[in-house]
This record gives sequence, structure tokens and C-alpha cells, in this order.
Amino acid sequence: MSEIANNLAHLKSEIGAINPKATLIAVSKTKPIPDLETAYNAGQRHFGENKVQELVDKRKALPPDILWHFIGHLQRNKVKNLIPGVFLIHSVDSIRLLNTIQKKAQDEDVEQNVLLQVHIALEDTKYGFDAGECLKFFEQRKHNDYPNVIFKGLMGMATFTDDSQQIYNEFTLLKSVFDKIRGIEATNVIFDTLSAGMSSDYRIALNCGATHVRIGSQIFGARNYN
Ligand SMILES: *Cc1c(COP(=O)(O)O)cnc(C)c1O
Repeated sequence: MSEIANNLAHLKSEIGAINPKATLIAVSKTKPIPDLETAYNAGQRHFGENKVQELVDKRKALPPDILWHFIGHLQRNKVKNLIPGVFLIHSVDSIRLLNTIQKKAQDEDVEQNVLLQVHIALEDTKYGFDAGECLKFFEQRKHNDYPNVIFKGLMGMATFTDDSQQIYNEFTLLKSVFDKIRGIEATNVIFDTLSAGMSSDYRIALNCGATHVRIGSQIFGARNYN
């Protein structure tokens, strides 16, 4: 078995031991197409990318039954290249971006799945809504303004730290906001996705209720950005 297939099998059993229903998203950013093909041939169908052009190029080159996840900061002028053809946008971090997604989805006559990204980390370099802002959005029924958008849940990234208690607290906050919104009934609010956890902290995230983990380096090896 290839190393990628080995890594996937190992991760699946680790994840399954905590939450057998959780979805593993293979984060393939910077990795060449043959690596994705190897993962695909091992049964992997959910792939995550953080650059629009890279996702579009890989989407063209790979089988059509792949479910593509966009996980990076999304510039509004690139939304037109992403939709349709992206299963879930994890990184909706502003109302202006949401407006652009609504308009493009309407033009294409599609419904676009999104997650709102919630800022839970201590670093202020990470994008996202504040937890309170996010809750208010749904309480004020702002989702009604976006008939072509399906709100599937929330995404969060924890602080980059060795302090697992800190990470646990941040994911727990994310889960509590998720649970509050889940009680809101609307046709375009289908909260079944809590995207949290990467290679270093996915166990903590799953223990806090994550339904989707986004894992790159533990599958494909370290990234080389040169
Ligand atoms: C790169 C990336 C990941 C995966 O990171 P690893 O540490 O390689 O698992 C997950 N989520 C986001 C948003 C990323 O940009």
C-alpha cells in the first residue's frame, strides 16, 4: 500500500474510534494531482483546497464524483470561478462575501452550501465572524436574504498552540454556538456540519463535536511552499 493510502487508513480508524460518522476532508493544497489520484483510488472523495485557481485546475483533471471543499480565505472577485462546482465553502467570513455568493448562485440557478467561519482563536490574523455576531445573524433571520444559499453549519480554527486546554475551550465555544443556531428552523438552514480540527488538533475537535475534520499533512506529508 502507498504511504498516502496507509495514512488514510490509519486516520480513518483513529477518527472512527471517536466519531464513526465524522467526515474526513483530505486537504490537498500544494500537492500534485498524482497524490490526489492515489487518495481517490484509496476511496477518498472529500478534498479541500484553499486557492480558487488550484481547486479549479484540479477539479478539471480529476473524476467528477469528488466533493470539493473550499477552505481558504475567499476573495469576492474569485467567487465567479468557484461556483458552480464546489460542494461546500467553509470560509464565509463576511456579509459582503455572502452577498456575492448569493448573487452568483442565483445567476447560475444553483443552491450553494456554505459554512460561516467563526473566529475562535486568540490570534487576530484568522478570519471570521465573532461568535455573537454569528448567532445574531440567525436570530435576526438574516438567512432569509439568501434564498440560494444553504447554511450547513460553522467552521473554526483554534489557536496555534500546544495548550490543549485552550484548544478544547475554543472548540467548545464553537460547538455551543453551533447548537444554539441548530434550533432555528428555516428551509435554508440545515445545520449538520461542524468543521473543526486539522492534523494537530483533530482529536480534540472530534471530542468537542466536530462532524468534519480537515487534514492535510498527516495524509500527504509536509507541504513545501517554495
Ligand atoms: C491547510 C489547512 C488545513 C490542514 O492543515 P494540516 O495541518 O496540514 O492538517 C486545515 N484547514 C485549513 C483552513 C487549512 O488552510
